[in-house]
Amino acid sequence: VFAHLVRAPEDPILGVTVAYNKDPSPIKLNLGVGAYRTEEGKPLVLDVVRRVERQLLNDMSRNKEYIPIVGLADFNKLSAKLIFGADSPAIQENRVTTVQGLSGTGSLRVGGEFLAKHYHQRIIYLPTPTWGNHTKVFNLAGLTVKTYRYYAPATRGLDFQGLLEDLGSAPSGSVVLLHACAHNPTGVDPTLEQWEQIRHLIRSKSLLPFFDSAYQGFASGSLDADAQPVRLFVAEGGELLVAQSYAKNMGLYGERVGALSIVSKSADVSSRVESQLKLVIRPMYSSPPIHGASIVAAILKDRDLYNDWTIELKAMADRIINMRQQLFDALRARGTPGDWSHIIKQIGMFTFTGLNSEQVSILTKEYHIYLTSDGRISMAGLSSKTVPHLADAIHAVVTG
Ligand code: PMP
Repeated sequence: VFAHLVRAPEDPILGVTVAYNKDPSPIKLNLGVGAYRTEEGKPLVLDVVRRVERQLLNDMSRNKEYIPIVGLADFNKLSAKLIFGADSPAIQENRVTTVQGLSGTGSLRVGGEFLAKHYHQRIIYLPTPTWGNHTKVFNLAGLTVKTYRYYAPATRGLDFQGLLEDLGSAPSGSVVLLHACAHNPTGVDPTLEQWEQIRHLIRSKSLLPFFDSAYQGFASGSLDADAQPVRLFVAEGGELLVAQSYAKNMGLYGERVGALSIVSKSADVSSRVESQLKLVIRPMYSSPPIHGASIVAAILKDRDLYNDWTIELKAMADRIINMRQQLFDALRARGTPGDWSHIIKQIGMFTFTGLNSEQVSILTKEYHIYLTSDGRISMAGLSSKTVPHLADAIHAVVTG
């Protein structure tokens, strides 16, 4: 009955790894994958996560019963505290509803489904460019996807004027997807002053902000600093949604652990929001998985574990920042034409190199370097050993 099916294309991001895996070359380099790698190019399980997992394993009082539709209560409460801050007025006034989600993606999807069902304006604005899955997630949730200008190729920075113009002409009430920090794929974030202007525009036009927080702590190494934009929007008392992921900042990629929080105007509205979120979640996957959320809750709950986590998180962020500097220095040393300062200015896991799809295809074919065709490279996939190979290859495609 499925003989009529045409073969679907690989996911553009995951497809990079598929191609990489097929390449027998010993010098091959995968810069497509959005996951942290050690200096040795290996996946990293945080030491604090290993320790907590051992504790969980030895705790005979634990079982594998279903957890509630909305997830683990402790996990939800602590996740809200992590993103909004311990002294958040919205938390103190019980205006936050948090539900456990299937990592960032699942949390975005539940938020999208909830909006499509219960919010009067079904238009969502995404930045151009954005993480490729955003468009599909929100389309399938039943929202109409539009875009706002975000990245300026000429400056390899923010198109702030374009952003203000596009959001300024969005229909009242439209949802606006904002990357909380470390914008993917560009690595370009607004300054706090620009965030303040964006906030002003969003509130004056009654737009509804939906933050995607996939990299808290990964951008600057500080969990609080990376949450600043979200907290600006909560401090003034307004409503918003935020999807959190623990994939990157705790290295829990495959555990699929995340959260969706909705900040409402009152505690009463908030409890009705929660009741409706349960109706959204139940027919999708019934209830979320227990293991990843138990790890996160244990770490967030205990002061020493939390502290150990922040040290490991900062080490990951610092290694990425160091890779930026090394790549920048290597291109400078080779006299590669062009201004490469965006490599050290951009923030988070990715650098938007500015290389075009033709240059990318040469990098892959001739140098066995794998990346998405938009020229995005994962800095976390680099090491001191591989920087020279990448710099040589970039130099060759730019000068060739
Ligand atoms: N949003 C952004 C901007 C991302 O980059 C990612 C991961 N690449 C996600 C959401 C979701 O990731 P996950 O579902 O693994 O948490």
